[in-house]
Parts: sequence; C-alpha cells; structure tokens
Amino acid sequence: MDLINQFARLAVNYINTRNDQPVFPGGEAIQRLDEFAAPLQAEPLDPGSVLAMLDRIGSPATVKSAAGRYYGFVTGGSLPAALSAKLLASVWDQNSALSVMSPVAAKLETVAAQWIISAVGLPQDCGYGFVTGDTMANFTALAAARHQLLKQLGWNVEAQGLFGAPEIDVIVGNEVHVSVLKALSMLGFGKDRLIRVPVDKQGSMLPDKIPPITTPTIVCTQAGNVNTGAFDPVKEICTRLHASPCWVHVDAAFGLWAAASPAKKYLAQGMELAHSWATDAHKWLNVPYDCGLVFVRDKEALYKAMTSSAAYLPTDGIREPMHYVPEMSRQARAIPVWAALKSLGTKGLAELIEKNCGQARYLAEHLRAAGFTILNDVVLNQVLVSFGDPELTRQVITRVQQEGVCWCGGTVWQEKTAMRISVSCWATTQEDLDRSLVSIIKHANSVKHSQNE
Ligand SMILES: *Cc1c(COP(=O)(O)O)cnc(C)c1O
Repeated sequence: MDLINQFARLAVNYINTRNDQPVFPGGEAIQRLDEFAAPLQAEPLDPGSVLAMLDRIGSPATVKSAAGRYYGFVTGGSLPAALSAKLLASVWDQNSALSVMSPVAAKLETVAAQWIISAVGLPQDCGYGFVTGDTMANFTALAAARHQLLKQLGWNVEAQGLFGAPEIDVIVGNEVHVSVLKALSMLGFGKDRLIRVPVDKQGSMLPDKIPPITTPTIVCTQAGNVNTGAFDPVKEICTRLHASPCWVHVDAAFGLWAAASPAKKYLAQGMELAHSWATDAHKWLNVPYDCGLVFVRDKEALYKAMTSSAAYLPTDGIREPMHYVPEMSRQARAIPVWAALKSLGTKGLAELIEKNCGQARYLAEHLRAAGFTILNDVVLNQVLVSFGDPELTRQVITRVQQEGVCWCGGTVWQEKTAMRISVSCWATTQEDLDRSLVSIIKHANSVKHSQNE
C-alpha cells in the first residue's frame, strides 16, 4: 500500500507541474536517460526504489503531450476520467480475450462500442473490436475486406492463403496515410500494385478520377487528412460505387469524431455508407495510449477473418472479444474509452471536438493576421503555416521547439514546407493558445529579421 501511496504522490506531482515544464525535455534530461542503461544488478531492488528511480530520471525526459500546448502529430491527451479508469483497470489486470477471463472487460467493450456507433452514426449492428491503434484497426478492417471479396470469388483466404488466389484490386487516394499502406502490405496486397487516385488542393480524393470498377476491389478512403484535416467525399464515393463489386473502407483515425459534433458532422457526411471504419481513441477521444477501434458493417466477415478455435476455448455463442481482433491476450482497452465517454456525455463529446476546432481556427486567424500564410482550409483541428521559404519555416519550427513553450512539428504539404499544428487535447486552454502564439510569432519575426540582414 505504501507503494501505491508513493505512486499517487508522484503522479499528482507530475500532473500538477507538467504545464509549467518545457513541452519537450531539455538535452540534459535526455542525456540522464543513460543512467537507465547500467547493467542489470544481481540483487533485487525494493519496488519503492524502482519507482523513485523511474520518476527521477524518467519524468523529466517525458514529452508533455498530455498537457495543453503540445500540437505535434495528432496526439491528444488523456481525460481525467479515462486516465483514472485506466489506472484502476491496471490494478484489476484483466485479460480481455474472453468474457470468461473478464466479464467486466467484455461488457464494457460492448457498451463503449455501441455508444460510439450511436454517437457517430455508424450502422447499429456492425461488428467491432478494440486494438492498439488505427494502424491495427486499418489492418483488421482490411483483413475483413480481403476475406469477403475473396469469398465472393470462391476463395477462402484464411484456409488457402494468397498464393494462387484470384486477384483483387486496391484503390487509394494519393493522400493515403502510410498506416494504410503498411496494413495493405502486411495483408499481402503490396504497396506497388495499388491504384492511386488524384486529390484536390486540400488532399481530398477526386471521385470522378476513380477508374471504373469491374472486378472485386477495395477502395480506401480517408476521413481527416493528417496535414489538412480534409475528408474524402465518402458519400459521393459510396453513391457512385453503389453497384460496383467493391468494399469501401474509411481510415477515420481522428476524423470519425467529427461525426459526433452537430457543427462538424457535415464533413463526415455519408461515412455510414461504407463497409468498414478504423479510428483511434488515443488521439481525439483523449484516452491514454494506446487504443484504436475497428468497425465492420458485415460482422460475419470480421469474425471469419479474425476467429480462431481450440478445444480449450469456449464456444458459447456470446460475443468473445478475441474473435474480432488480431490479438488474443490483451489489456482491457474499452475501460478508459467507456470512462471518457461516460464523463463527457454526447454533449461533452461534441463540445470537445468543437472546442479544438475553434482553437485551431483561432491560431490560424492570429497567425494570418501576423502576416504568415495558412496553407490549408482550417475545417477541423489541423493548421498548416508557412513563414516564408522552406529554410525560414524550418528554422522557426526548430526555435519554437527549442524554447519549449509549445511544440509543433513540420511537414511538406504539396511541395510547400510548413509548420503543422494539431489541436487535439482536452486540456488546451485559451491561455495556452495565447502563450503559444506569442512564442511562434516572436520566433518567426526574429528569424525573418535575421534573414533580411
Ligand atoms: C494517426 C493516424 C493513423 C495511424 O494511427 P496509429 O494510432 O498511430 O496507428 C492512420 N491514419 C490517420 C489518418 C492518422 O491520423
């Protein structure tokens, strides 16, 4: 119990001070990590000392991505209810493979998934599973697609494999996320035999550039481009392809949550017409890492692609979590998801999404007013800023990162070097935004000034 009290003290201290620390650890803190690399000693060490060492060396070297001024990648923080639920779930240490291993984990998978299905308007009866993140969610959904399309061609891919199988085509947008390419390559589709469809200036697939589909085809669409936040026109794509032999998948890593907001759901219009959806809970739903979710309209296809059987496994006719995902033993990822949703309610979920979108707009407006170029239409939570030529923009990003008031990454968007700002954290306040703007504008002006000399 002393250990748990010690842990609680350390955790409270970390949470109370993280917003005053540099968002990215300094060089000294990173160097001190080498202390971890000493050879493993022979004698046991008491757990209190192990925890104290982890805190002393580890905590200063963390990225404060769970606090309010981290805008890197699309990261998200952790809602207090989700974080504490995850901690309690760690105390429970449940294996969520089977309902007989953890009735509570199995129940909360169903409850949390159904709430999400309702909140974002997916088909009520679709299959679902909890995985590590959106990469695995894409993988799982596309495995279901592979199963179903090959089955229609008289081929059982789980039994017969891919050697000698009938070919199926895969269509992606030119702005497809690399995780979809990885999932496709792991599934045996390869990365080089994909059909790529051109996109518009925001990165949305141009539906009239999709070639006619005559043979079974997987069409990978995207809801929420990692740079611009743009959505592929999923409704138009699904409507156009309605009579074609295809499976439309939506990579909705963070865009799915727009559908939970009355103000933003127009972006995700028609998403429910697709066959499968992949998303993250650890990004915009703000649950602690890691957690992704897969949804598949054809529950049976998902089950057939993922199931396994053995004499010791129950066949009781109820939903067993492991039959819908690649893993068998796993942590109970649904628990923090349930807690996040329960603490927000449908209204709070919409407000979280709309708040971050408004904050992104605020940053964009002020950076534009300060004389810098916003490269994207800020429709969601993503902002791309150019401060001038590529070298200048890169320098601004480096200086902002070094100062540590906030953290923004870089990217190249349609051949233009940009700072990439993603507002995805529940904890971001107006004060956080204003402090971040002061830092970014100060460095941008000073870099510009020194370039002009
Ligand atoms: C983040 C992201 C992914 C990958 O998700 P992971 O959770 O990192 O596996 C895939 N697609 C999009 C659009 C993303 O934003």
